[in-house]
Amino acid sequence: MAFMKFGIVVCPRCKKAKVVDLSCKTTKCHRCGKVLRLEHLRILYKSNSDQKIRRALGLVNAEMDGRLEDFKELMK
Ligand SMILES: [Zn+2]
Repeated sequence: MAFMKFGIVVCPRCKKAKVVDLSCKTTKCHRCGKVLRLEHLRILYKSNSDQKIRRALGLVNAEMDGRLEDFKELMK
């Protein structure tokens, strides 16, 4: 599988989705400040396109009110 540059993860503490650079090992949640280790997180979506990943992030955040499972079905 080709290396993807960007990914979307969800902070396990505050449930805020964010875009991460997949070449980094950790990222810090903008909302609660928790340092997240990418190897411990499920990457919901991956892309090499900055535009596509930001669009996907918008969708994830829009769907975080209990409908994330539906969203993941859509992204398969
Ligand atoms: Zn957080």
